[in-house]
Amino acid sequence: MNTQDFIKLEEQYGAHNYHPLDVVIERAEGVWVYDVDGKQYMDCLSAYSAVNQGHVHPKILNALMEQARKVTLTSRAFRNDQLPLLYKELSELTGYEMSLPMNSGAEAVETALKLARKWAYRVKGVPRHQAEMIVCAGNFHGRTISIISFSTEPLYRDDFGPFTPGFVVVPYADADAIEKAITPNTAAVMLEPIQGEGGVIVPPEGYLRKVAEICKRNNVLFIADEIQTGLGRTGKLFASQHEGVRPDIVIIGKALSGGFYPVSAILADKPILGLFTPGEHGSTFGGNPLGAAVARAALAVLREEKLAERAAELGTYFVEQLAEISSPHVKEVRGKGLLIGVELKPEAGGARRFCEALQKQGILAKETHDNVIRFAPPLVIKKEEIDWAVARIREVLNMP
Ligand SMILES: *Cc1c(COP(=O)(O)O)cnc(C)c1O
Repeated sequence: MNTQDFIKLEEQYGAHNYHPLDVVIERAEGVWVYDVDGKQYMDCLSAYSAVNQGHVHPKILNALMEQARKVTLTSRAFRNDQLPLLYKELSELTGYEMSLPMNSGAEAVETALKLARKWAYRVKGVPRHQAEMIVCAGNFHGRTISIISFSTEPLYRDDFGPFTPGFVVVPYADADAIEKAITPNTAAVMLEPIQGEGGVIVPPEGYLRKVAEICKRNNVLFIADEIQTGLGRTGKLFASQHEGVRPDIVIIGKALSGGFYPVSAILADKPILGLFTPGEHGSTFGGNPLGAAVARAALAVLREEKLAERAAELGTYFVEQLAEISSPHVKEVRGKGLLIGVELKPEAGGARRFCEALQKQGILAKETHDNVIRFAPPLVIKKEEIDWAVARIREVLNMP
């Protein structure tokens, strides 16, 4: 079977809820992936930052295989010998007292929202079922009905109402708008420190600090969705740390497993995360020993290979190189660490055709928000590999 055979099968039998590039990947290693025709590509998406540690990292692979031979799923009806160690290691790494594991990012977001509502009723004293959450325009927090209820992207929500109430949307990167939207019933403000799916939108310096201060002064929880920006991607463990901010609740996912397995979690201190009581929340697979073992190895790789530091250093280099490209199509190059967006001018004809041209050159990147090409390679990328990519990106950005 060749590329076209696989594509035909997928189109015939699968729901068409994605518009992938026409490359059929068969195996991968580090920053490189290989398609069924044997062609090699550099992965500049990293599965939306889930493979920060690089594809099929041997240490995580080993942890997966060892654990898979022992026990994979106990459910939380019983305890297992991996989850307690993951809790402890997460706490030591992040400085939060507790965590709660789930599987997908969206589930962790839902968990954070439930927790903030409970906190509002039990601690803040908001009248029951009146809690409000403030979120930002252009957000991406996942695909469940509650989460798309406060999306501002018509494609994500228009055919899927009725919507979950209790959310107030304000413009992103505008701290005053948050302050104005706060009422006595506000439980939390939830935002992404950098909007990834929204087009790699980096808020002005000081925004996160101001939001944290506003939340504190108004007795409102600050929830940072670091599912894409967290775990080293932007050059620090969490993107909030660029402004010295410590949110009340941090949501992580994606790279928490290095791409091997869906593992997500929320992090918070005891006065908040200690509020859940048995039976109020759960997941059959959440905190399973296989996922926990994989996450422990993924975090160890992050630490041992100093991936956040690498992202800071190589991200700066990558942005410098991209900024030096003179192209008639580029409006702006921006980002933090190795989360980089190249915004094209409106007349460039959309980012998709550039991503397709990059594919022909051996680089897999994905457009986000029509006009932005995102470059987010695995954090294990080497300087020479960036040089290799930049030469090809330069060529593509100079096509007619
Ligand atoms: C990917 C992502 C999610 C959703 O994660 P899933 O695992 O796809 O459910 C939520 N928030 C942000 C910021 C993300 O990038």
